[in-house]
Amino acid sequence: MLALEGIPLGHRFTFLEPSPDPPAATVGTVIPAAYDDPGALARIAREADVVTYEFENVPAASAAYLAERLPVLPPPRALGATQDRLAEKQMFKSLGIPTAPFHSLDTPGDLATALATARLPAVIKTRRFGYDGKGQIVARSPAEAATALDTLGPGLIAEQFIHFERELSILAVRSRDGRRVSYPLTENHHRGGILRASYAPAPGITPALQARAADFAARIMDQLDYVGVLAIELFLKNDRLLANEMAPRVHNSGHWTLDGADTSQFENHIRAVTGLPLSAPRVPGPAAMLNIIGELPDPSAVTAVPGAHLHLYDKVPQPGRKLGHVNITGSDEATIRASAEQIWALLPGEPPVLPAGRRPG
Ligand code: AMP
Repeated sequence: MLALEGIPLGHRFTFLEPSPDPPAATVGTVIPAAYDDPGALARIAREADVVTYEFENVPAASAAYLAERLPVLPPPRALGATQDRLAEKQMFKSLGIPTAPFHSLDTPGDLATALATARLPAVIKTRRFGYDGKGQIVARSPAEAATALDTLGPGLIAEQFIHFERELSILAVRSRDGRRVSYPLTENHHRGGILRASYAPAPGITPALQARAADFAARIMDQLDYVGVLAIELFLKNDRLLANEMAPRVHNSGHWTLDGADTSQFENHIRAVTGLPLSAPRVPGPAAMLNIIGELPDPSAVTAVPGAHLHLYDKVPQPGRKLGHVNITGSDEATIRASAEQIWALLPGEPPVLPAGRRPG
């Protein structure tokens, strides 16, 4: 999707991609090698003008090697800040960005202190390499917390379980010369730890809440001298925003921008990393994004739904695998909801997930 949006801007793309038959092969050259393959990294250093990534578990040493030779954007320090959940939460805290109470957890001796801060019920998560809800256990008692520690091993973070009203995300972009733009807050629905649906702009968000989220993003991006799209996942509870995690890349909860905004997150990311001016995105109406997971729907049925835009990734179906998404645009929320319900009916085994109702004010 970065290439699809970057090609009209005059760029060509080369992908370092270890998996066989990658979707990116249709839009650029693929170097089929591991992320730490010395020959592949040397070739990229010779041939590329700028390097970016859309996956945060890029080995730090690979990013450092490339950054000595050409611009790597977002800067590798952003990878460092997001690869460890504890360091990430500590950074939020140091920047005055609220989070769920948290504590590191490595040995049984840490349990009492960790639970005194995080309190039960707590979410126990691996600090590194967790994604889509993997490597996390909700503990409701000290015994369950001890079992979680046993199961997940050392290198954990314990967080208070937040009974949030909604999950939101903000996508913000910073240019090489430090200018920033952001997209409207998006409402996200997960199931089994995987994003199922996003609704944007999130219904019922006050300008003050939007400004607060944009300010969180600004603090983080300025701190990291960031360039590119940054996504921050947030919990909304009692009008408070708590930062859960961030991703130094274009994000699934911003896929709606391909059809719902005049400039997508992908175009703005390419603009940022290649030194072009950013576009302050205009969002003419509501939009939704429904992920296609595990099984492909009938394309003719999907595209027959009013306002539906199908995006397939050319991936082999596998249970739990994100194979594409459907964006829905329309003039009002009722139209979006009606189309979303039709699309859900075409996605096997997926009960509908609808946006929270618009609240007064
Ligand atoms: P994460 O990998 O941190 O994004 O967590 C995946 C999902 O688990 C989140 O999108 C939330 O739905 C849920 N979750 C994570 N942390 C918490 C928490 N502290 N309290 C409640 N739910 C959480």
